[in-house]
Amino acid sequence: MTEGRGDSTRASHAGLPARADGEPFLPGPTFAAPYHLAGAPDASRFNYGRYDNPTWARLENALGELEGAQALVFASGMAAVTAVVVPALTPGDVLVAPSDAYTGIRTIARDVLEPRGVEVRLVPTEDAAVREALPGATLVWMESPSNPLLDVLDVAALAREARAEGAAVAVDNTLAGPLRQRPLELGAHFSVTSASKYLSGHSDIVLGVVAVADDERAAALRAWRSATGSIPGPFEAWLAHRSLATLALRLERQEASAAAIAERLRGRDDVTNVRWPGVGSVVCFDLGSQARAQAFLGACDLVAEATSFGGLHSNAERRARWGTDAVGPGFIRLNVGIEDAADLLADLEQALDVSRP
Ligand code: PLP
Repeated sequence: MTEGRGDSTRASHAGLPARADGEPFLPGPTFAAPYHLAGAPDASRFNYGRYDNPTWARLENALGELEGAQALVFASGMAAVTAVVVPALTPGDVLVAPSDAYTGIRTIARDVLEPRGVEVRLVPTEDAAVREALPGATLVWMESPSNPLLDVLDVAALAREARAEGAAVAVDNTLAGPLRQRPLELGAHFSVTSASKYLSGHSDIVLGVVAVADDERAAALRAWRSATGSIPGPFEAWLAHRSLATLALRLERQEASAAAIAERLRGRDDVTNVRWPGVGSVVCFDLGSQARAQAFLGACDLVAEATSFGGLHSNAERRARWGTDAVGPGFIRLNVGIEDAADLLADLEQALDVSRP
């Protein structure tokens, strides 16, 4: 166990098996549909590939150490979201969810939950708005910091109040991650993370995680994953574990550069609404119009035009292009990668200058 040690020590050692001569530090992925299994089906923990896999198990141990809880991995962040909300809500139940955070939860609410008779209360990511929606809630879903507006909630206070109302509490922790915020310690029942972002950090896999503190919820999530088949591939799980080792290092660099970039952007008179919540690599700002934003993105050299965030290569996009977020046509979501800060600053400044109206 790595609890109590520094972030980089914890991230780089989490979930590694006990040392054994002749064995690798991190064993390679196990690819299996059936495993050898004679006699009773519970003769081995590993009997069929949809139920369990040693490569997931090591990654789950690692993520569990970082979350201070039990972790389960899923095929994607949205598979993890679905595993929490769909079985938790039946007709007549009430979901409180953000109106201004990642669109996925709203899509599930609109297309799956509401048609089944679940009442959905969409509220902005503001403490007072969440608090007002709590009476009678069955499940309260928070995303803090939120994507893409990077607003933050007082998770501990709201979780306490939601529990007092008898509600379950889930926090989408994707924008902070377990080294910056541990939602279960703040009172949440579920901590949900898209590992497609920082946890894996190389823009090459799609994966999700749910962490829970109690055995009952862990067993229910495991049963849901086995029944629905929302499982990660072993190779993705192995890549995530390998990449997790550098999480603290990557984040330190990304956050230092994000702070410098946010400060520089705030100093310009042709950029408005600069947002950075003090953790993570995402910096948002407004360039006023679609034309300017597109010209800026086209003029960037190091910063690729692409969606998503958390990866070690810098990227940015005009968020309004998806039509899913309440942001202006010139709103940019920038993911700051691990390139040298001076190079990134120079690239962004030249692109802002070139695209200046
Ligand atoms: N939660 C947040 C905050 C996200 O930004 C995303 C994806 O962008 C998801 C969940 C969904 O994750 P995935 O793309 O891994 O399914």
